Amino acid sequence: MRIFDPHIHMTSRTTDDYERMAAAGVRALVEPAFWLGQPRTSAGSFTDYFDALVGWEPYRASLFGIRHHATIALNPKEANDPRCREVLGELPRYLEKDGVVAVGEVGYDSMTPEEDEVFAAQLALAIEHDLPALVHTPHRDKARGTERTLAVVRESGLEPGRVAVDHLNEVTVGAVAESGCWMGFSIYPETKMTAERMVHILREYGLERMLVNSAADWGRSDPLLTARTGEAMLAAGFTDDDVDRVLWRNPVEFYGQSKRLDLSDVDAADSFAGNSIRRGGS
Ligand SMILES: [Zn+2]
Repeated sequence: MRIFDPHIHMTSRTTDDYERMAAAGVRALVEPAFWLGQPRTSAGSFTDYFDALVGWEPYRASLFGIRHHATIALNPKEANDPRCREVLGELPRYLEKDGVVAVGEVGYDSMTPEEDEVFAAQLALAIEHDLPALVHTPHRDKARGTERTLAVVRESGLEPGRVAVDHLNEVTVGAVAESGCWMGFSIYPETKMTAERMVHILREYGLERMLVNSAADWGRSDPLLTARTGEAMLAAGFTDDDVDRVLWRNPVEFYGQSKRLDLSDVDAADSFAGNSIRRGGS
């Protein structure tokens, strides 16, 4: 089983995690920019973090044979802090960097007017820099948050096929499936979504535009839940090819739209993935 985790916060994980991930088949990942637990108090704290996401963290991943890419944005939570707003002016130079494959995570946390403004501004940056967008949906008031998210995406003019709406569940997946956006699911040990529930969703909605991630972060989470989902799919009668599609080819196709995915060594064993990278931008 080869795995591409399309949403995982390695900054908050240890080298033991990298080691276990590599052993479980994780060969590539995307680390979206998010908060640091402790609130940031200046734009400089963001730029040091962004530099780590495109410099230090890819190096750390490479020691375990894992290809690391990032998405860059002002996260929804900190969009509400005026001290952080200044970082919007710094984003364009990061969005030009090789290892940056999308704008994200953007979207809503508490659905404030400040979040509206920052979300729309960053979708405009995605269009300007010809990048896909990774959109976080709020953990509270999820259905309303997802509806509002899809409305903002529609207004932005960004093609739905270049947007992944993440942290979905049984309540929100239907609206996103209809919108034409990609559907992201974060599998957690206790909350949000389990591997078994994920298998049911795949049965009902099919495999197209489906992304499964572990989202592992500062909270209780498990970077191997992508592999567990693959195992649950096989146990439920999905084929190896189905698992490969969801856990590898789908994220390659989505982020391949940036034309910056570099999987030259890690996917050498399989030419199909290489084809989908080249196809990605079309
Ligand atoms: Zn996240």
